Amino acid sequence: MSRHTEAAVLSAPRSEVAIASVSIPDPEPGEALIKLEACGICHSDLFVAGLEKLPLSPLILGHEGIGRIEALGADRIAGASPFHSGDRVGITFLASSCGACDWCVSGRERFCPRQLNSGYTRHGALSGYAVADVSQLVRIPDGLASEQAAPLCCAGWTAYGAVREAGIASGGMLAVFGMGGLGHLALQYAKRNGTRIAAVDVSEEKLEMARALGADITVQAENAGRTLTKEHGGVDAAVVLTASPAAIQQAFRALRRNGTLVLVGLSTNTYELPIVDTVLKGITIRGSFLGTKQDLDDVLQLGAQGAVTAHVETHPLAETPALLERLRRGQVPGRAVISFP
Ligand SMILES: [Zn+2]
Ligand SMILES: [Zn+2]
Repeated sequence: MSRHTEAAVLSAPRSEVAIASVSIPDPEPGEALIKLEACGICHSDLFVAGLEKLPLSPLILGHEGIGRIEALGADRIAGASPFHSGDRVGITFLASSCGACDWCVSGRERFCPRQLNSGYTRHGALSGYAVADVSQLVRIPDGLASEQAAPLCCAGWTAYGAVREAGIASGGMLAVFGMGGLGHLALQYAKRNGTRIAAVDVSEEKLEMARALGADITVQAENAGRTLTKEHGGVDAAVVLTASPAAIQQAFRALRRNGTLVLVGLSTNTYELPIVDTVLKGITIRGSFLGTKQDLDDVLQLGAQGAVTAHVETHPLAETPALLERLRRGQVPGRAVISFP
């Protein structure tokens, strides 16, 4: 007789996310069954919920899951798993990768063309129980609460990777566009490197949080490019965490010569940028997706040390649909995290 659990489920493309009863699968070889303790809610969940086609439907959302291993699938090589029952682990957006392509063998599994993603091409972690590939699980250090660890598995990891891709020398100036779940973490990671921070958002409340976290300058998003250039001499790099073409254009305008524009937020939109300025100013434009495995370990260690803290509010699973709606309206300061009983 199969067991059941509650999960946040998207029953069809562009449908409302609803809480539904789903059966708990048995772990296959190489997989673990995890009893969830916490899972963050990410903008990418909204991105998936808004897609015209879904690779899996119905689909369980969620890719910031922390829980304990309850059972391991029978491994082909007995005892090969680095994990045991009872270990606390994290499920990230990277659910599995092929292990054999150029990207996988060089530690860039996040660019594997055959990867599967939690809460997108595989069932996710907004569920009482989830099955996940052991090869992509990450160990959660003791002393880091599950509700704190959850946002680090996507928001923290992504923010840390983006700050590294911005490649700013100590004392340089970084503009962070979007002070939500990723932005408030990106700010803290960049501050640790001695980077000066210009925080940009439409919300005065979020800019106030950025000032409290040590932002050197806070700027309203409208006309941010002009403000940063005219009043502050421009920035060495801009990380754009929102998915708006207007924000990308403002960030581009804010750059100094040889500046770097790092795009992170996901959207099905396209954007336009001026060719002349890109060329004559020697601008670098790059995308940043998640980070390296080392980045994730660093992020979890910084979290366990209390050096970087995610601002979280915790809620029961039943509130997931309402939280997604608040996130859509930009009304979640920091990160909303589901706490499982
Ligand atoms: Zn995410
Ligand atoms: Zn691969």
